[in-house]
Amino acid sequence: MIIFKKAKDISLYIDTRKEEGKSIGFIPTMGALHQGHLSLLKRCSQTADFSVCSIFVNPVQFNNPEDLKKYPKKVSGDIEMLEWNNCDVLFLPDEDEIYPDEASKQKHFALGHLETILEGKFRPGHFQGVCVVLERLLSIVKPDILFLGQKDYQQCLVIRKLVGQMNLELNIAVCPIMREESGLAMSSRNLRLDENDRKRASQLLTELEWMKENLSKQDFKILKAQATARLEKNGFKVEYLELAKTDDLTNVAHYRKNEQLILLIAAFVSGVRLIDNLLVNP
Ligand code: AMP
Repeated sequence: MIIFKKAKDISLYIDTRKEEGKSIGFIPTMGALHQGHLSLLKRCSQTADFSVCSIFVNPVQFNNPEDLKKYPKKVSGDIEMLEWNNCDVLFLPDEDEIYPDEASKQKHFALGHLETILEGKFRPGHFQGVCVVLERLLSIVKPDILFLGQKDYQQCLVIRKLVGQMNLELNIAVCPIMREESGLAMSSRNLRLDENDRKRASQLLTELEWMKENLSKQDFKILKAQATARLEKNGFKVEYLELAKTDDLTNVAHYRKNEQLILLIAAFVSGVRLIDNLLVNP
């Protein structure tokens, strides 16, 4: 694996690979890698000629400075994992490389209602930060295929919108959620949970599955109230638990059998904010 720290060096290298007719697959990450990230890399290696990962903890997408401070970092372990899993190129930039000046952090993107609902509502500015960094990374790496995780479902829609606005010829592959044996969605933030909390946190999926199972029998509002009450009784702080359309995440108050829907949740467990989702009628 070749590691690049400078944008111009990786750009040049990728241009040469492209001139050779190679397709470039790209997996942007914030590090503290786990099997979820590696599943994206695996899919990338199967699909594209060349796999490029980036590790950059993007300060601009953190609305909460404490969350940024506590975000897990383990770069040398990450490098080892990527090498073991046959990643071709790692882009590991410093902050100055991505943001040469303050102005480069301030760009604004027209994201419409996507940035005012769900994650957007509870993390103001978050998706603007995601777009700022992704626009920069995409212009450096110029991939043919971008690999994203369904775990961050709303982010996938936001990035689709960004790619449309950038007029890029880029395919997006959305990969399924990798879970721990308990059912807990893998996340770098899980490193901040102790063993007991990790076990407890699997209740997020249990409740989503229970709701999915019962949507055709019971009103969503009632299911939501019951699931939220059970979670809160067990010490979770639920930020949202919603049923929405998969294409634009508009809220759905009543389940309809033939509609593609998704259940989405965000909740705190012992001060750690976790998100999860489950497709309904996929
Ligand atoms: P992050 O490092 O959290 O920014 O995530 C980098 C990429 O990995 C994003 O596209 C995530 O959606 C994806 N990802 C994170 N967790 C998982 C998971 N449990 N399963 C599959 N993909 C994931």
